[in-house]
Amino acid sequence: MFDVNNIRKDFPILSRTVNGNPLVYFDNAATSQTPNQVIEVIADYYRNYNSNIHRGVHTLSQEATDAYEAARNKIKTHFNAAKAYEIILTSGTTHSINIVASGYSEILEEGDELIVSAMEHHSNIVPWQMLCERTGAILKVIPITQSGVLEMNVFEALLSEKTKLVFVNHVSNALGTVNPIAEIITKAHSVGAKVLIDGAQASPHIKADVQALDIDYYVTSAHKLCGPTGVGMLYGKEELLNTLPPYQGGGEMIAEVTFEKTTYADLPHKFEAGTPNIAGGIAFGAALDYMNGIGFESVAAYEHELLEYATSKLKEIEGLKIYGEAPQKTAVVSFNINEIHPYDIGSILDKLGIAVRTGHHCAQPVMDFYKIPGTVRASFSFYNTKEEIDLMIIALNRAIQMLQ
Ligand SMILES: *Cc1c(COP(=O)(O)O)cnc(C)c1O
Repeated sequence: MFDVNNIRKDFPILSRTVNGNPLVYFDNAATSQTPNQVIEVIADYYRNYNSNIHRGVHTLSQEATDAYEAARNKIKTHFNAAKAYEIILTSGTTHSINIVASGYSEILEEGDELIVSAMEHHSNIVPWQMLCERTGAILKVIPITQSGVLEMNVFEALLSEKTKLVFVNHVSNALGTVNPIAEIITKAHSVGAKVLIDGAQASPHIKADVQALDIDYYVTSAHKLCGPTGVGMLYGKEELLNTLPPYQGGGEMIAEVTFEKTTYADLPHKFEAGTPNIAGGIAFGAALDYMNGIGFESVAAYEHELLEYATSKLKEIEGLKIYGEAPQKTAVVSFNINEIHPYDIGSILDKLGIAVRTGHHCAQPVMDFYKIPGTVRASFSFYNTKEEIDLMIIALNRAIQMLQ
């Protein structure tokens, strides 16, 4: 049974205070908190078997390699990849997208078209713009509606045999919208385009099955799902990863090096140059174990309750406008109150111990669409409670009194 009070005991940070008040952490869309089960795995690595992987014959190196590869297998199983070597361990979503975008500079030709959505994180926009500058490919944009939903009819009209790649997030970090990725993938594939799904915001809430959805590339970061920062993954279908050139050169990614010619290692090592975040990779596996132990269905159901509760309470506040009211949403609420600057609200909430994010959330095109500088964003996790939401509502009412 899902018991939030028991779950909260796993997260030591939740018992600290901020500015004399108990911490209320509502910035989960930026990074999630880390349970003891994951912290212990990191500490155990450094205490007991810290060693470089894949190269050593000695015991510590074997143990570290085994743990790292076991984590890759857990990730493979979680996302239902066909092969463990289709999981490339990276430093995170941004790194993963750059590997693919950089690789396509050797594949695309001038006039090829790429399609992006208007609700992307900058990390799923800028690497593609750089790719277009290098290749002469053209970037097309799927617009969004006022409620924060992709205009799928425009997407269909943009698709043609010139389309080579489509990249959209599974869930928007600015609005919480869950995008219809199954439909996007089917339609893109019908014109021969490949699809990259940015799963950074989805993976803490939704388990994506890359084979069932026929996903070409799926990327995410461990730190959004109770894992550490600086580690993430790029899933790619084997035949696609094999056609992409390596991203970085160095140790670990080679088969043979001579000054005449260097040959590259097979997957996944071709994309894993240098010493990786070993403890982080192992802890990524532990984070998935932890989340699966609670169960993604329980997590999604409970977070949905929090979302509904917060949305209805926020709507009682006069002058408060919510951005992003898609029928399918994760537990993210972006809002503004009258003309008050989001930063001022965020600062007062922080004085009261409540952590929310303010600003453009690395999604400036979304803010431009709504003609606002930014929003206040409260994003909930399965370890948050309705009592914490009540505290935020009280704090918001105090902020309004002070600022209006
Ligand atoms: C957090 C996030 C990213 C960036 O992740 P990094 O870990 O900073 O690389 C990209 N896209 C979405 C939707 C995100 O929420």
